[in-house]
Amino acid sequence: MGTYLDPKNYYRLPWSLTDNAISWLEPTWKCNIVCEGCYRINDPRGHKSLEQIKEELAVFKKFRTTDGVSIAGGDPLIHPEIVEIVRMVAEDGQKPILNTNGVALTKELLQELKKAGAKGFTFHVDSKQSRPHWKDKNEIELCELREQFAEMLHEVGGISCAFNSTVYEDTLPYVPDLVEWAQQHIDKVHVMVFIAYRAAELDGRFDYYAGAEKVDLGEIPYTASSDRKVDILSTDIYELLKKRFPDFDSAAYLNGNNKPDSFKWLLSGRLGTKERIYGYVGPKFMEVSQIFHHLRHGHYLAYTEPKIHRRGKSMLLLSAIDAKVRQIAKKYFLSVMANPIRLFKRLRYQSIMIIQPPDVLEDGTQNMCDGCPDMTVLNGKLVWSCRLEEPLRYGCFVNSVPKQASKVAVLD
Ligand code: SF4
Repeated sequence: MGTYLDPKNYYRLPWSLTDNAISWLEPTWKCNIVCEGCYRINDPRGHKSLEQIKEELAVFKKFRTTDGVSIAGGDPLIHPEIVEIVRMVAEDGQKPILNTNGVALTKELLQELKKAGAKGFTFHVDSKQSRPHWKDKNEIELCELREQFAEMLHEVGGISCAFNSTVYEDTLPYVPDLVEWAQQHIDKVHVMVFIAYRAAELDGRFDYYAGAEKVDLGEIPYTASSDRKVDILSTDIYELLKKRFPDFDSAAYLNGNNKPDSFKWLLSGRLGTKERIYGYVGPKFMEVSQIFHHLRHGHYLAYTEPKIHRRGKSMLLLSAIDAKVRQIAKKYFLSVMANPIRLFKRLRYQSIMIIQPPDVLEDGTQNMCDGCPDMTVLNGKLVWSCRLEEPLRYGCFVNSVPKQASKVAVLD
């Protein structure tokens, strides 16, 4: 299953627990819609106070050097003090990035958030959300909504625009269409993120333990007892994209912490226009971007401003060190020779990220993203945001033990 990619052909993003590109702040547990793949319970724990948020930012500051903070939830836009939260993050020297479903976004709020220092939005839009006025729409039909959000951001200017969607077995075939849609909107859409759906399977293969105590994992949101497929790999998505766009390739990755040849984050960058993608950058391009940013700013790079994405022609200078950029430059100049008008068009950069969240391996080991960028805070400690419900409920992360092994343990 999934195409084989040799990690040696790609750049391992240098992100670690203490020196990373981003951190993950959850100012609220509340949400205004329900998404099928959500890891959080929309419950009465409600909104966090500004004091609590300040403490969490202090924990990030103590343990982590980062470029930005993803402000997620719940939906962060329904926190009554979201503008102040964005200001606090910005004053802390971090880029505030709002991870939202966008339902509560108005032009006025967007203006206020920009004034407070917002640098980016990642809109979660997919067909498994109970979104008012957009029920029963498929991934293609939802592009109309994506376009509305992209247009709103474009009008205000200076804010990065990303879209993410959870990918399920039945929505997987739409991924290439979304990548094509992103090309048609390359002037407004800077990043596309595809997250393979994951849930802990309650199919009887494992027992779950919090410390020595056996627990019923069915109480937490990211479990599945249905027959929904929970093992779509990043490389399955890669393969599908490669079939539609033979030039498609990734350039950088994060591996799994317990399965080194698994690709938990697979990052691609491409240069092109609405009419044509000239190619996908290579690992050296990513390495230089990360290292140069770190040398200059003291932290790795997460989100770039829209004006950087417009500088595709300057990026061709990296031909000197990146063979794939060299190929892009060749194609670009040949096409300009064929039609010199093209020289006056902007060449733009766009990212495509594929994420494969936690997997439980055969022996019960959990394979997390090594160098997880989405660490959040619980009780003064850094924890994986995708599994926050476990320490909240059981006081620690849960171990999965294959049934056979737990029987042996009992007999011993
Ligand atoms: S380990 Fe979990 S929280 Fe961290 S990046 Fe992976 S999926 Fe996200």
